[in-house]
Amino acid sequence: MGKALIIGAGGVAGVAIHKCCQNSDAFDAICIASRTKSKCDAFKEKLGGGKTKITTAQVDADNVDELVALIEREKPDVVLNLALPYQDLTIMDACLATKTNYVDTANYEPPDTAHFEYKWQWAYRDRFKEAGITALLGSGFDPGVTGVFSAYALKHQFDEINYIDILDCNGGDHGYPFATNFNPEINIREVSAKGSYWEDGKWVYTQPMEIKRVYDFDQVGEKDMYLLHHEEIESLALNIPGIKRIRFFMTFGQSYLTHLKCLENVGMTSIEPIDFEGKKIIPLQFLKAVLPDPASLGPRTKGKTNIGCIFRGKKDGKDKTYYLYNVCDHQECYKEVGSQAISYTTGVPAMIGAMLVMNGTWKGPGVFNIEEFDPDPFMDALNKWGLPWQESFTPKLVE
Ligand code: NDP
Repeated sequence: MGKALIIGAGGVAGVAIHKCCQNSDAFDAICIASRTKSKCDAFKEKLGGGKTKITTAQVDADNVDELVALIEREKPDVVLNLALPYQDLTIMDACLATKTNYVDTANYEPPDTAHFEYKWQWAYRDRFKEAGITALLGSGFDPGVTGVFSAYALKHQFDEINYIDILDCNGGDHGYPFATNFNPEINIREVSAKGSYWEDGKWVYTQPMEIKRVYDFDQVGEKDMYLLHHEEIESLALNIPGIKRIRFFMTFGQSYLTHLKCLENVGMTSIEPIDFEGKKIIPLQFLKAVLPDPASLGPRTKGKTNIGCIFRGKKDGKDKTYYLYNVCDHQECYKEVGSQAISYTTGVPAMIGAMLVMNGTWKGPGVFNIEEFDPDPFMDALNKWGLPWQESFTPKLVE
């Protein structure tokens, strides 16, 4: 039993909060703290009658002193960071100052450059070790479950993994011509950046959306997918011995891409501040304000997601292929926790990672990516908490 401090009260946090409350044997208390306290209070109002005791607080997670005061007051066993990637380092600083374990779902990204990588968080390794606390980085779906799948495949199916293709398919339809399934600012920064993949020990760069493939996904059907840079490639390249290539593909419909191109062409996706009526504004942040809130897509989204990894490598001297994936239904998620599947597939692993760190099943001390821990308890928990996985030994490969 233990207590989690959940920072953020958006789409992903909403699912994690529901799941912590369902899992009251592990989480006897949670504190929900975010910039807008009314959102935290709304969760307390909805879920506060159960066995998990809920408190709420207002916090600016860019401010280390405020975070330290909150952690000292609430005394959580783990801090689950479900705010935005910009807050990762301030929250890690506050965890260090208070010797509290840390879990997040996305790696640090400086607000002024659309560039994310692990170096800033890996720089905390020695300090977390010395403080005797554990940081678990990237406990969402991708990164997150994709790393757990990789560790599981290596442990149980292969002697050596040489190729990983991560395929992230969203077959859901929300009925809007253009909307993003999670935080629009983070989402658009991710998809408008250059693509890259890891091959033979180095990064290979592509133009945004340059590499397109078509894949027939179980329970979804044929979809166009595009090669993107994605953060788990960086850590898997270090943590999976014998790896030759890792690629990440995400599906996008034509309407999404056409809108995105148009928004890019008119400058709406830029993160360079501009002067507007005597005030500096960032076009992408303004765009976020006019787009539908991802949390509002839940009731409208129909269809399924299918996210997983195709592994190729060697077992007992022979070539082997193995596909591990999860299929998640948007409307089932909405019925259960009031969110669509993108938030669900991130919020469930966030709860599981926080539970395993909190109860000491996964412990350092130090700063770890998810594939560095034993995957088995996480794989069992996925089946138990709503993201059952499936496997295939004869998947179609991506050329
Ligand atoms: P939302 O925008 O829905 O929620 C973010 C929340 O963080 C909001 O409640 C927001 O407050 C709060 N917040 C933002 N800035 C601050 C601050 N300075 N202090 C306190 N609270 C703050 O985002 P999502 O729920 O969609 O995403 C949450 C995280 O999950 C992101 O880091 C995202 O990158 C990650 N993610 C990871 C995935 C994975 O598979 N690994 C997939 C999808 C998302 P307010 O309500 O006031 O705006």
